[in-house]
Amino acid sequence: MIIANEPIDASKLAKATEIIEQLQTELYEHITNGAGPFLAAVYDKNGKLIAKAANSVINETCSHNHAEMNTIKAAEKALNTYDLSAYDLSLYVTAEPCMMCLGAIMWSGIKAVYYSVPSKRVEEITGFDEGFKPDWLTEFKKRGITVYGHIAQEQGEKVLQDYVNGGRTVYQPQR
Ligand SMILES: [Zn+2]
Repeated sequence: MIIANEPIDASKLAKATEIIEQLQTELYEHITNGAGPFLAAVYDKNGKLIAKAANSVINETCSHNHAEMNTIKAAEKALNTYDLSAYDLSLYVTAEPCMMCLGAIMWSGIKAVYYSVPSKRVEEITGFDEGFKPDWLTEFKKRGITVYGHIAQEQGEKVLQDYVNGGRTVYQPQR
């Protein structure tokens, strides 16, 4: 079931569903090329793609390189600014942002987040650690950031399950 931190807007949800389903389809190709199983994109309010990137923790040997981090970095570079807030941008992502990416989203000036698979299911399916997260939908609302979640969740879970079934790496720091 869709969750959101505002009354659900059918047109925003329809647009987000279309974009996220496209990301889920494209994600298979990224995984084949060595990416982790997450893909994100930033669009402006007119529907123009600003940046898109997959998780590259393994293939670029950097623990920070989650799809959201890579995409925000690429959007800031494309627009030549460290503050995206004037651009009214939305981030679309194939899974709920982890604790690191929540911080990155806040500091970037992104205005809306649309995600597919909730962290609990990501952890259950893959074993990735998503970190501890307080009530971030409420915290984001206080900061003027719209959030919609669980969009096209079934297909999103299938991509993650296929990643695991393919014997691909689930990376974790040793504890
Ligand atoms: Zn993350």
